[in-house]
Amino acid sequence: MVGEKVNYSTTVMGWVRTFRNNQFIALNDGSTNNNLQVMAELGKFSDDVLKRLTTGACIKATGQIIPSLGKGQKVELKADTIEILGDSDAEKFPLQPKKHSLEFLREKAHLRFRTNTFGSVFRVRHALAFAVHKFFNDKGFVYLHTPIITASDAEGAGETFRVTTLPVDGTAPKNEDGSINFKEDFFGHSTNLTVSGQLEGELAAMAFSDIYTFGPTFRAENSNTTRHLAEFWMIEPEMAFYDLEDNANLAEEFIRYVIKYAIDNNKEDIEFLAQRLAEEEKALPQDKRSEMGLVEKLEFVINNDFERLTYTEAISILRESNHNKKKKFQYLIEGDGWGIDLQSEHERYLVEKHFKKPVILTNYPAAIKAFYMRQDDGCAEGRQTVAAMDILAPGIGEIVGGSQREERLDKLEQRMKEMNIPADELWWYLDTRRFGACPHAGFGLGFERLVQFVTGMGNIRDVIPFPRYPKSAEF
Ligand code: ATP
Ligand code: MN
Repeated sequence: MVGEKVNYSTTVMGWVRTFRNNQFIALNDGSTNNNLQVMAELGKFSDDVLKRLTTGACIKATGQIIPSLGKGQKVELKADTIEILGDSDAEKFPLQPKKHSLEFLREKAHLRFRTNTFGSVFRVRHALAFAVHKFFNDKGFVYLHTPIITASDAEGAGETFRVTTLPVDGTAPKNEDGSINFKEDFFGHSTNLTVSGQLEGELAAMAFSDIYTFGPTFRAENSNTTRHLAEFWMIEPEMAFYDLEDNANLAEEFIRYVIKYAIDNNKEDIEFLAQRLAEEEKALPQDKRSEMGLVEKLEFVINNDFERLTYTEAISILRESNHNKKKKFQYLIEGDGWGIDLQSEHERYLVEKHFKKPVILTNYPAAIKAFYMRQDDGCAEGRQTVAAMDILAPGIGEIVGGSQREERLDKLEQRMKEMNIPADELWWYLDTRRFGACPHAGFGLGFERLVQFVTGMGNIRDVIPFPRYPKSAEF
């Protein structure tokens, strides 16, 4: 809140964290976890003011910044005047000056910003968001705002939230067959919240060459995991003239850049979070603790190349692993194994046990990936792969999903038919393959998973201000 300069008068405003010895206020304005000590000299302030200096109260203090005699801070404010801007009833304020569990604080999400942990998490989140824009802006990418309400579901299989103005009490207009007549709905079509801005992103890449989106996406997946939210923010760059390798290179450079930006700009917060994580892990048995501290882990990621391998290579590593042979996977790799969708335990094994670094997996079986991914040439019978890439990170699992896109109209149409994707509804998407198609690629990175990785927070619900998940949309 103030620097290290001394002997000047100033006014500060913030929230009282603690008030001790009827003299020392620890004041915080959210700019850092380092509170400013405000000294209320004994005898100088009325009892009425002193008793209102409670945890959570908001105050304004004017006085001299002087060198501090106390431990733990270089300067302090010797107050001449203290004004209470907002009282906080100590009996009722839910945050006591002690450690609260993350679960407890999740239920107090409106106040949890006022704790050190969430102060740090959300300052780091801000830094990462800023770094995202800086990275792409510096490279000349155009920031594209894709629609939130769409009539398409990019994956064809995503669980979407419906958007409608039709009544839900059973009186909505019906077709002859009894189904709801969405022609009568607001948009004249059934619509939903977007699950991805990719398809629209591709349209713009066919004009600006390089674009990115950074916006909210919604998935009504009923998954109560520490990695899934119903509302999350996604970054989706889309680049004309990129192939799969260019795509992977960009994703890797991007992840390194934003992590480095956060370390360079929010070192204090990251060090605080590293300490928090180390404390939390002390309660775990030795073999469950991270091998590296948070700061060490982030520096490792910045300084080391990600491991790159194909899906087929990954399957053979998993199949031949002792872990598999000793039947330690819940989903065992049986027989040849080729074709299965990797479970998160498989991804974690590759990243955390086998390679011990982020991994880029490429060329997945076409059958387990989306219709728009480019079919690899020269595949053996029954082994059609696509130019997909997933990036897996330690402790997080999948952080990026991307691919080179299928630019060949005939191949794309054939794939859509096989996967029952209605081509007539996506006529505009197919038009880019009719008019000036070119090789292109892109990826989607879940912003909250990135924030989790950088802050070391174990639960995705603790890295977004007001999380939405099954049975919870409070605040
Ligand atoms: P997962 O297998 O982890 O569910 P996905 O294959 O559904 O991921 P994509 O559709 O490729 O993910 O989405 C791109 C990125 O968005 C993912 O790599 C991940 O970082 C993020 N993501 C996906 N679903 C969620 C979610 N429900 N909450 C938060 N982030 C998500
Ligand atoms: Mn998913």
